[in-house]
Amino acid sequence: MKLLTRMARSFVAGETVDDAIKAVKKLNEKGVMATLDVLGESVKDRETADKAVQAYLDLLEAIPKSGINSHASLKLTQMGLDIDLEYCYENIAKIVSKAREHGNFVRIDMEGSPHTQRTLDIFYRLREKFDNVGIVIQAYLFRSEKDVQDLNKIRAKVRLCKGAYKEPKEIAIKKMKDIRANFIKLAEMLFKEGVYPAIATHDDKLIKWTKEYAASHNIARDRYEFQYLFGIRTKTFQRLTEEGYRVRCYVPFGTHWLPYFLRRLRERKENVFFVAKNFFKK
Ligand SMILES: Cc1cc2nc3c(=O)[nH]c(=O)nc-3n(C[C@H](O)[C@H](O)[C@H](O)COP(=O)(O)OP(=O)(O)OC[C@H]3O[C@@H](n4cnc5c(N)ncnc54)[C@H](O)[C@@H]3O)c2cc1C
Repeated sequence: MKLLTRMARSFVAGETVDDAIKAVKKLNEKGVMATLDVLGESVKDRETADKAVQAYLDLLEAIPKSGINSHASLKLTQMGLDIDLEYCYENIAKIVSKAREHGNFVRIDMEGSPHTQRTLDIFYRLREKFDNVGIVIQAYLFRSEKDVQDLNKIRAKVRLCKGAYKEPKEIAIKKMKDIRANFIKLAEMLFKEGVYPAIATHDDKLIKWTKEYAASHNIARDRYEFQYLFGIRTKTFQRLTEEGYRVRCYVPFGTHWLPYFLRRLRERKENVFFVAKNFFKK
């Protein structure tokens, strides 16, 4: 278990808020913004969900105190989505309201397809009251084109990613080439009719496409941002920052890192070697 913990450190900023703040300070010094994620998901009891809510409320107090530039990202199954919809809504509303008090922003991550519709339902409800909350769309899902159309109508802030969960072929695109093509189609919709899209990918082809599309359509660099995951292709995003693009790093921290870590490993077999190499370097 100790070995695994050390391996996970490649992708996770540490266990405590202090660890996370230290990591974000380093990123901020390099011109990179952050979004902090208190690791946790698939919560089945209210006690654990209540603790997660408190952790986010504390985090949203700690961010302005420390002076770091960071949003928060969270998962609804951590807030009780699988326990009770109303309870989950109340929990997330408390967090978004606290963020609003501090002029901050909360992004709701998108989880596996059994949660997609309920996550969107809660998001739409939140948007009636709050404008400091955003959502995520996964390019591998067939439904995403219609979701982007609907989200653009309410001027929702969308983070676009490929999607990290194992989904059945009936509902999700399987070939990387086709996922990439759909990513581009959705990104174009977000650039044309959406508000401040976040392009969340480490894929060179998609990063290049975004730069070229924005330049050829006179889209100013403050009208969108690139996002990446802590520990992945850091140099690429440092370069983008130096070129004058807005870049935000997703910084997970906490003790419940295993599901997040396994998703990162599953995405790329090379990651197994990547973490192993980092482990032996230490
Ligand atoms: C900020 C952010 C937030 C996200 N939020 C969500 C979410 O809410 N829901 C969700 O389902 N998914 C989310 N994801 C994950 C996403 O859906 C993908 O699973 C993940 O980003 C991998 O896809 P990719 O587009 O980066 O391309 P990939 O095809 O995985 O990678 C593209 C290229 O990146 C490079 N690369 C990838 N990993 C490494 C590495 N470890 N070291 C070196 N190079 C590497 C390689 O060159 C690779 O060819 C998020 C991703 C990001 C960046």
